[in-house]
Amino acid sequence: MSKKIVIIGGVAGGATAATRLRRLNEKDEIILFEKGEYISFANCGLPYHIGGTIKNREDLLLQTVEGMSEQYNLDIRNFSEITAIDPQKKNVSVLNHQTKETYVESFDKLIISTGAKAIIPPIEGIEQAKNVFSLRNIPNMDQIKNYIERNKVKEATIVGGGFIGLEMMENLIDLGIQVNLVEMSSQVMPNIDFELAQILHSQINLHGVNLILNDGLKAFSKQGNELILTSGKTLTTDLTILSIGVTPESSLAKEAGIDIGLRGAIKVSKKLETNYPYIYAIGDVIEVTDFVNQQQTIIPLAWPANRQGRLVADIINGFDVAYPGTQGTSVAKVFELTAASTGNSENTLKRLGIDYKSIHIHPNSHASYYPNASPIALKLLFTPDGKILGAQAVGTDGVEKRIDVISTAMKFGAKADQLASIELAYAPPYSNAKDPVNMLGYTADNLLNQKIETFDWQEIPALLEKNVYLLDVREEFELVTGELPNSHVIPLAKLRSRIDEIPKDQTIYVYCQVGLRGYNAARILMQRGYSVKNLDGGFKTYKQATYRLSTPNTNITSNQNSDIDSVDSSKLISIDACGLQCPGPILKVKETIDRMKNGETLEIQASDFGFITDIEAWCKNTGNTLIGNQLIGSKVVAKITKGTVAAHETKTHSLPSEGILHETKNGATMVVFSGDLDKALASMIIASGAAAMGKEVTIFFTFWGLSILKKQKVKKRGLAKMFDIMLPNSAKNLPISKMNMMSIGSKMMQNVMKQKNVDSLEVMIEKANNLGVKFIACTMSMDIMGIDRSELFDFVEYGGVATYLGDSEHSNLNLFI
Ligand SMILES: Cc1cc2nc3c(=O)[nH]c(=O)nc-3n(C[C@H](O)[C@H](O)[C@H](O)COP(=O)(O)OP(=O)(O)OC[C@H]3O[C@@H](n4cnc5c(N)ncnc54)[C@H](O)[C@@H]3O)c2cc1C
Repeated sequence: MSKKIVIIGGVAGGATAATRLRRLNEKDEIILFEKGEYISFANCGLPYHIGGTIKNREDLLLQTVEGMSEQYNLDIRNFSEITAIDPQKKNVSVLNHQTKETYVESFDKLIISTGAKAIIPPIEGIEQAKNVFSLRNIPNMDQIKNYIERNKVKEATIVGGGFIGLEMMENLIDLGIQVNLVEMSSQVMPNIDFELAQILHSQINLHGVNLILNDGLKAFSKQGNELILTSGKTLTTDLTILSIGVTPESSLAKEAGIDIGLRGAIKVSKKLETNYPYIYAIGDVIEVTDFVNQQQTIIPLAWPANRQGRLVADIINGFDVAYPGTQGTSVAKVFELTAASTGNSENTLKRLGIDYKSIHIHPNSHASYYPNASPIALKLLFTPDGKILGAQAVGTDGVEKRIDVISTAMKFGAKADQLASIELAYAPPYSNAKDPVNMLGYTADNLLNQKIETFDWQEIPALLEKNVYLLDVREEFELVTGELPNSHVIPLAKLRSRIDEIPKDQTIYVYCQVGLRGYNAARILMQRGYSVKNLDGGFKTYKQATYRLSTPNTNITSNQNSDIDSVDSSKLISIDACGLQCPGPILKVKETIDRMKNGETLEIQASDFGFITDIEAWCKNTGNTLIGNQLIGSKVVAKITKGTVAAHETKTHSLPSEGILHETKNGATMVVFSGDLDKALASMIIASGAAAMGKEVTIFFTFWGLSILKKQKVKKRGLAKMFDIMLPNSAKNLPISKMNMMSIGSKMMQNVMKQKNVDSLEVMIEKANNLGVKFIACTMSMDIMGIDRSELFDFVEYGGVATYLGDSEHSNLNLFI
């Protein structure tokens, strides 16, 4: 018997379901309702038409109503919005937006594929702003494109650093627009972990984007031409794109009494049925089971919508199939980089309390001797008994291929060490005989089978504080690109002959650039009875993780550079270091410069973006002159004139600095845990003194130290109230560490300071701020202690340990108070 099937929503899920339904059954009546004009359009391509990469708007319209109706014998009704569902009577109410006619349509089976809508919070001033947009569909795209063209937009702001926000950022940059990207959390792309997101942050900065993390949009002013951020900072903007997330378009279902689950998403069974067995829901509107952790979640991506579209048609036609859950495999382009992931991130695993191990590697995309090889930062997460939980990768080439392979392996239950035995296609232009996926397998195997113990980049501050024995097994020439403080340097090749220098009575924390030489060193030491741990992912991972945001530099991608062009070509020597990972290009530079005469210029190309900062540090250390350092296409091109600044007027470009450059350590960092008045005074005196001497001073306030930054009292409840009772409510009311005597001691001290004409703590804080001292409040301890940003001084910046670490690596004074 034929069925009457009604589908709501004519794009990814809905259109897929409709065509599969027809292929399975020629007799059924299939009606597809779409409230907009377009069906089956390519929403994923919208940002690229705005930026001009996809030139023809029509290319985004994959199907027309007429074409699809005819080809599949479907009854497609666009401009037709479903306004109500009656599950008992099995019908839907329809409003035709063109004729304004309303009518009721019955069904035997109903498929809801209404998607998701952009979250637009009621931000102050949004009503008056006429230049605020979000991007979900073709009309949104047209509006944004028209607005940019008509108003000659020069500066735009993206709020939200998810994949749509990042794609919009890149496309606006392609149009020559100056872009601010504001993201409330400490990183963009929440599906990958911080240290990998940092690689994106660095690339985003390289393209001149003003990336603002740990800050949110609080209000619009000046009709949307000014944005006020939570920190109090303001931004001017001609256009704002809100991409802070989506919420399921489930109001119809809710009103119809269909069960709703997490964050407004429709609850469905593995058979994609709602609580009414003849009503199904698919795509962005539903709650899914996370394939890895089996918790309910929302993963609004095109693959699940398409897969569910096909499955629901099969299920309606009686096939015994089910949807097992979503793995969240995704990929995004961020300028020259690709970022991809599958499964759970470390952040998710931590939040859910799932025990895991993690490894980082930095292999090349293909054989390093074949042109254009470039590094991929790869991370794998697995349970202590090896079950793969997730993987992430960032690089220029071959990134999504590796994630797809791991996603496939995960789907079929492979363990981490089994990645070593997957036989993958190899020829030099494509891979290595040991593919990066195999390398992950080997590394996991070593960890799972106790061939090695590792420590990771996040443990480094605590280890430095404990003054552990750090062994750096890199070559001397590599150290100019950065090292961990107080490391003992013994290059791997010399390790056996110098092994007696290494103490046996403590754990040796060994590291190299990417982890491989460290592993070799660890094996040598372990077999001689040493207790050893190797830095997972090497110094490169640490350096990437501790990248510090820089101010925008719009010149970086320009292809022309006057300094470079003025170089006498007879004195120009060119080398290609693409495919070599840092410090490989540095070694090539050193070897070549050693052979050159003073005044000659070397041009070098590298495919590892880390070279940008490494070469800058190397030149400063070695007295050579960096006359150009640019990103051209997906290569770094640097020009170095042999000899010092005196011989050639230097004009190095103000590139963002990354990691640790030990020749430029002019910083002072302080961690203030204590909320005692005397200690707060001491920290302000030292900080101001250091700043007055020209140092870049950062103070990281954590736990009780946060009291020093308090400007006002805020009403609180629960645990936050408990902390509030225990803590002083402003810098004025701090106790002293000894003899406080119910605050009499503190008052006495303040009086004496006044008599002796010593500034009060509040004045000292203000002066330190005026001197440029950076005040960072630790967001993690704020969270624990229930301290809100509104309680703290407006000039305070917010960050986590990585922000502090980044600064501490540039300092030669580090105090804990
Ligand atoms: C700019 C952008 C870029 C993206 N890029 C990617 C990407 O690169 N990779 C990726 O995996 N995913 C991407 N996505 C997400 C992907 O497009 C969605 O996950 C997918 O389209 C979801 O399919 P769906 O059928 O659930 O909803 P949609 O494809 O959004 O379709 C829902 C349709 O239902 C219609 N509708 C809603 N309510 C009614 C009603 N009451 N009556 C009639 N019709 C109604 C809507 O008008 C809409 O056309 C992107 C999304 C956007 C917006």
